[in-house]
Parts: sequence; C-alpha cells; structure tokens
Amino acid sequence: MAVVEVRDLRKHFDGGEVHAIDGVDLTAADREYLVLLGPSGCGKTTLLRTIAGLEEPTSGDVLIDNEVVTGLPPRARKIAMVFQSYALYPHKTVLANIVFPLRAAGMPTEQRVRKAHWAADLLGITPLLNRKPRQLSGGERQRVALARALVREPHVFLLDEPLSNLDAKLRTSARDELKSFQAEIGVTTIYVTHDQVEAMGLGDRIAVLADGKVRQIGPPVEIYDDPADTFVATFIGSPPMNLVPRDGHLVGFRPEHLLPVEIVRDDDRVTMPLAVDRVEYLSGDRHLYGTVTRIGEDTRVVVRLPSTVETPIVVGETHEFAVHGSRLRFFDKESGLRGEPVRLGT
Ligand code: ATP
Repeated sequence: MAVVEVRDLRKHFDGGEVHAIDGVDLTAADREYLVLLGPSGCGKTTLLRTIAGLEEPTSGDVLIDNEVVTGLPPRARKIAMVFQSYALYPHKTVLANIVFPLRAAGMPTEQRVRKAHWAADLLGITPLLNRKPRQLSGGERQRVALARALVREPHVFLLDEPLSNLDAKLRTSARDELKSFQAEIGVTTIYVTHDQVEAMGLGDRIAVLADGKVRQIGPPVEIYDDPADTFVATFIGSPPMNLVPRDGHLVGFRPEHLLPVEIVRDDDRVTMPLAVDRVEYLSGDRHLYGTVTRIGEDTRVVVRLPSTVETPIVVGETHEFAVHGSRLRFFDKESGLRGEPVRLGT
C-alpha cells in the first residue's frame, strides 16, 4: 500500500529557539504498524503533523512510496489522520458522520452508503449507524472516527493518541480491536503515544523519541531487551531498568531479572546483597524495594518477583540476590550509551 519515509527532518518553532524535530530519519514499511513513543514535548505530534502535511518542515523531506511529498497539501498524500480529540458532528447521525468526507468528495450516494456499511461492519458499529454521537460511549465514538477515516481508503493511517480519552478497560479492548483491524486492512499505520504499554502491545516496531530525536527504533522486544541508551532503558519498562554505577559505567538489569540467589543456578551469574525496606503486591507480582551493595556503588533498586517465586522475604532483611550474566546491560556513565560488557567478577 505505502511506504512512508522521512529524511533528515527538522522542524523549528519560535525563530529557531525550539527544535521540535531535530534531524529525524525513519521509514515505516508497507503495512507496518510503527509507533512513535516518547515523553510529553518530545516532538511526536509535530512529526506526525509534518508527515500529514499539516506542518511544513524547516528542512528535510517526507516521502510516500519514494515520492517526495514535502510541498504537497494533506489531501494529495492519501493519508487519513485520527486525533486525540476526534470531533464528530454532534447533530449528524453516525452514518452521516462516516459518509461526510465522501460526500465532500462528490461520491454518489449509493456508493458512499455501501462504503460506510463496509467500514461500520469492520469496526462493529453497524447497530449504531442511526444514533447521534452523544448517544455513544467514548470507545464507540472513537470507532466512528476511525470508520470516517477508513472510508477514504487511505494509504496511510496517522493516529495521534486516539485512545487517550478512554478508561483503562476500554483502552485495552480498543487496543486489541485497533491491532486486528489494522492487520485486516493492512494499511501502513503510524501511531503516536506516550504510553509504553500501548506501544509495546501495538507496534511492529517502536521509534523512541526524546528532544526531537529518535533514540532507538526496533521491534518491542529489542527495545525492551537491548535498549540503546539509559533513556530508553528507563523509559520502557515499569518499574524501569535498574542502573548501578560502577567505575565509569552503569550496570543495568530489569527488575524481573534480579532473583533470590538460590533460583539463579548457573555459574554465569552476578550476586549481590539486597537490603529490603519495602514490599508491595501488584497484580500477583511481589515488588521489593531496597539497596544493593557490592557490585558497584550502593544503589536503590526494584525487584519484581512473579508469584511463582515463593522465597519468603521480609522488610528489614538482607537477602542474597543474583542476575544471570546474559541479563546484564552496560552503559557509559557520561554519555548514557550502551557499551561493551564489563567483567564484574563477583
Ligand atoms: P505531547 O505528548 O505532550 O503531545 P509531543 O511529543 O507530541 O507532546 P509536540 O507537540 O510535537 O510534542 O511538541 C514538541 C515541542 O515543540 C514542544 O516543546 C512544544 O512546546 C513545541 N511546539 C509544538 N508546536 C509548537 C508551535 N506551534 N509553536 C511553538 N512551539 C511548538
């Protein structure tokens, strides 16, 4: 359907004071679900709007199917966008809302009604076609907005936090729907979110952004297991990766990889005492908070033990813990960038 590419893209605001996008290169492959993830203000929305043609870049290019579209208006780009605040026309029915863009484009009535039914069926909102937006739940409204974007048969879907108005439960089901729906229609999708759980669940690949730059791009498992720097390591994962300073390096390990020593039965392990000062139970997992010593500077860490690990551990106790050698990640303390493994020898 479409490959979307941006080349050395920059967007400055306020006379060059704000570098909202600061030299971004990325490609969304045909039919790919690419998620742009990053904290508030990192430039996600600006990047999406520039791809859509709603913002003109300061420099660099946007290409769709190898054609430079940088100077073209949004309607010439075969793109459909759904924003966080998807405004539906309140006095029109769901059906009238969905067909609106087709009507504006001059499509004959019969054809546009057929298309609206096709999109409504795909999104499971056929029984709602005669209702008005105020008679719908947030999730239903959002599906209407998607249907309205879909009937235009875009080559590219650009979605900007479209689930942010939904409550947690609805968000999860809407996320499932979005994913299966995208797989079904196979349209290249670029999806903006600051929610890492959403990003991990939806993306074929995730581009992690900070300060207008892409810090890392890759499949969710790669971003999680092999973060390129300490920003990615701590932005992804909840609780985030633990980082222990040692001789100009930071030794990183995920909370679920620090386990009571008796469980890590392998010579390739690094052991450390953990003085536990707090224990929390969260959805079946046990979170231990405390300070590790010996492997580097004394550092506060978090441990996440699944319910299958039944080792009794109480507050105030110091217990020996270990990380398997293959789970350790090393970063340069100054730059934060991923570095070569260091021999710890404990
Ligand atoms: P959020 O998750 O909060 O929506 P974001 O990652 O989408 O954030 P952007 O909206 O792209 O971030 O903004 C990136 C930076 O550019 C921010 O510092 C923002 O203040 C700035 N910015 C965005 N639009 C404008 C504008 N029209 N004029 C000046 N500065 C702007």
